Amino acid sequence: MTEYDVVVVGAGPGGSMAAKTLAENGVKVLMVEKRQEIGSPVRCAEGVSKVELESLVEVKKSWIAAEVSGAKIYSPDNSVIVLSEEQAGNEVGYVLERKIFDRWLAKQAAKAGSEVMVKTSAIGIDKKREHLVIKLRRMGEVFEVSAKMVIGADGVESRVGKWMGLDTTLKLNEVESCVQYLITNLKYEMDYCHFWLGHSRSPGGYIWLFPKGNSSGNFGIGVMPSMAKEPAKVYLDRFLNEVGIDTSHVVEVVAGAVPVSPMEKASTERCLLVGDAARHADPITGGGIINAMKGGIIAGKVAAEAVKNNDFSSKFLSKYDRLWKEDFGKTLERNKILQKKLLKMDDKTMDKLIKSLSDSNLKEMSITGIVKELIKKNPKLLWDLKSLFF
Ligand SMILES: Cc1cc2nc3c(=O)[nH]c(=O)nc-3n(C[C@H](O)[C@H](O)[C@H](O)COP(=O)(O)OP(=O)(O)OC[C@H]3O[C@@H](n4cnc5c(N)ncnc54)[C@H](O)[C@@H]3O)c2cc1C
Repeated sequence: MTEYDVVVVGAGPGGSMAAKTLAENGVKVLMVEKRQEIGSPVRCAEGVSKVELESLVEVKKSWIAAEVSGAKIYSPDNSVIVLSEEQAGNEVGYVLERKIFDRWLAKQAAKAGSEVMVKTSAIGIDKKREHLVIKLRRMGEVFEVSAKMVIGADGVESRVGKWMGLDTTLKLNEVESCVQYLITNLKYEMDYCHFWLGHSRSPGGYIWLFPKGNSSGNFGIGVMPSMAKEPAKVYLDRFLNEVGIDTSHVVEVVAGAVPVSPMEKASTERCLLVGDAARHADPITGGGIINAMKGGIIAGKVAAEAVKNNDFSSKFLSKYDRLWKEDFGKTLERNKILQKKLLKMDDKTMDKLIKSLSDSNLKEMSITGIVKELIKKNPKLLWDLKSLFF
């Protein structure tokens, strides 16, 4: 049985960043990916903040599909607010070509020294006293490897957490169910990412258009299953029909889920969870690429320390929870509270809030600044959010 220090399950942005960080720290690491091609099929609208991405990796033209100058946000009655790219949150700036991006990230992990196996599923973990036995299936063949610990970067459907004793079950109000079409020959303003709000359009979520260059774009929807009466696709088709979008040029369909309720604890003995497996996507935007990458780096560093100290106890590994909370955890927590508020808001109230910003100079404001402005202008409606933002 081959012995590794760490096995990383899943080669999305979270897994690749973790494997790369581990290898850079001299750790013997194996990253396994169940799909035969890393990054494909894509289950993502592919938007990321420029500043955030540039702080994590050197940006390559080969995996940038488009750049946008900002975001247009439409209220249920179609009033619009326009945000510059810098203010618009963690999904707006670059639109990636994730098929190329995810593969590039995995190659970086391999270059740093990580072993990578594709078409290899983790199918179970046996916890021994001194190590883990990880059961893998590769092209029909089942075999086992030994590892001192595991990093679960296996996405929203994560099983690693469950195998290791963490409760990763998602309730219907903790997830967004998404459908997306990649449409070509789009006649739409393509300098911006577009977001349409309103529970009648997309209960508990929103509709988006992320440009991908050459008149094509990702048109998608997320709905919260606990609030939606029909499948996400029905709402998306209805909307596209209403706004006159021609759907006779759909070249790719994506269906997937995004967790929108972060876990309190993403570590346990001999195990760390990163990215969607740890439910690190933003509760409001559903954006999870940047946090998966950040979580991957933090998990890689903590796991490398664990290997060095030969300490895989839940106490030692809880350092990971402390570090991700210090980094992006506070924003996740705050946005979870904001999300709960938005979920209870009817469309008329949402219209009223967006209209109240009509005389504000939004160009100068960050998202936090805009929420502060909303609270000032609508104290009765939003007073309970005051302590979070002031
Ligand atoms: C429709 C949609 C639109 C989205 N749009 C955006 C967006 O615009 N911007 C943004 O930031 N985020 C977006 N997200 C969220 C984003 O895609 C995720 O947050 C991000 O991919 C998380 O990265 P990850 O590495 O944690 O997981 P993933 O990218 O999901 O990678 C997990 C990997 O693990 C593999 N795996 C799973 N189980 C096993 C196993 N047992 N053995 C081996 N391998 C396994 C999977 O095949 C997969 O490759 C969107 C999500 C959806 C569904």
